[in-house]
Amino acid sequence: MEKSDLKSLTEQRIEAEFVRMGQPKFRARQVYRWLHQKQVSTFAEMTDLPTPLRGQLDEKFYINTIRIKKRLVSSIDGTVKYLYELRDGNCVEAVRMQYKHGASLCISTQVGCRMGCRFCASTLAGWVRNLTASEMLDEVYTAQQDLRGRISNVVLMGIGEPLDNFDNVMAFLEILSSREGINLSLRHVSLSTCGLVDGIRALAEKKLQLTLSVSLHAPNDSIRSQSMPVNQRYNMDDLLDACRDYFEQTGRRISFEYALIAGVNDAPAHAEELASRLSGMGAHVNLIPVNPVAETGYRRGKRAGIEAFQAQLERLGVNATIRRELGTDIAAACGQLRRQDTETA
Ligand code: SAH
Repeated sequence: MEKSDLKSLTEQRIEAEFVRMGQPKFRARQVYRWLHQKQVSTFAEMTDLPTPLRGQLDEKFYINTIRIKKRLVSSIDGTVKYLYELRDGNCVEAVRMQYKHGASLCISTQVGCRMGCRFCASTLAGWVRNLTASEMLDEVYTAQQDLRGRISNVVLMGIGEPLDNFDNVMAFLEILSSREGINLSLRHVSLSTCGLVDGIRALAEKKLQLTLSVSLHAPNDSIRSQSMPVNQRYNMDDLLDACRDYFEQTGRRISFEYALIAGVNDAPAHAEELASRLSGMGAHVNLIPVNPVAETGYRRGKRAGIEAFQAQLERLGVNATIRRELGTDIAAACGQLRRQDTETA
């Protein structure tokens, strides 16, 4: 029998398993703490469990772990990029950034991506599979062990589309924020989506405290459809309707990401169109000077133009910031993560 993945189960589900095995419920909490607080990798280490139970668990379940295959440190700002190797040999990347208020980790949610955004390196080699909840948790746990300290913010902005892996991401968030685990408040978590409307609506139902970021990158359908195939499935009207409903249902403002690409979406008329579409949403726009990805040919404009775009949005009543760039020398910036060890930095 193939073993199942114990670390991906919420405490409630472990409890249900234990009841089925004829074990008292409190054992579930003990095991859960071993997995998520002490983060052991073998059942033998769970010393307060009876030895026969440890054996039984070992027959039925495995404890996921991931390995740091490569670790790059930016010489500019100390940002660390991890290439993690998963149990089946697949690889994903995660990026750790140091801010004044603590360490932030950008994690991957899938091996590859099938959304096909033209400016993004993560999608170039296609989609392989979803990450399990345990693999996403291990991205965080392993970075904490490496840091010998606490990760205080987690952003789901690495490789993959989190809402295309909905159930595993929800289990991940529940375990990440659980008091019997590392207890990371969802107020310190951001989830970024390319705009899967059904997923945004399903997420709204959960009423989580996290920050939802939506990758917009264009002021209208004709520009958006050229660089983001997802726009052919859900157009901007549908997307922005879902965003308005999300705000209404959860009371949480949405943050829109807008990668500025020279000659494509960075003209004053685009800022004006964008501002008019976002009016009344209390939205925040995060401008990202597009990062170079060799295969795409997209370029960024001059800094003065980017600042003018921001100033224009502000004048039109839309709160806008320009994203600070970290880890550019190790290809750790937005849209540069890959699932293979291809960089030579
Ligand atoms: N799939 C999710 C999560 C990825 S988040 C999403 O699309 O939101 C990564 C962010 O970086 C997204 O906003 C993405 O659109 C943006 N991005 C991708 N390629 C980029 C590039 N070359 N330059 C700047 N931002 C980019």
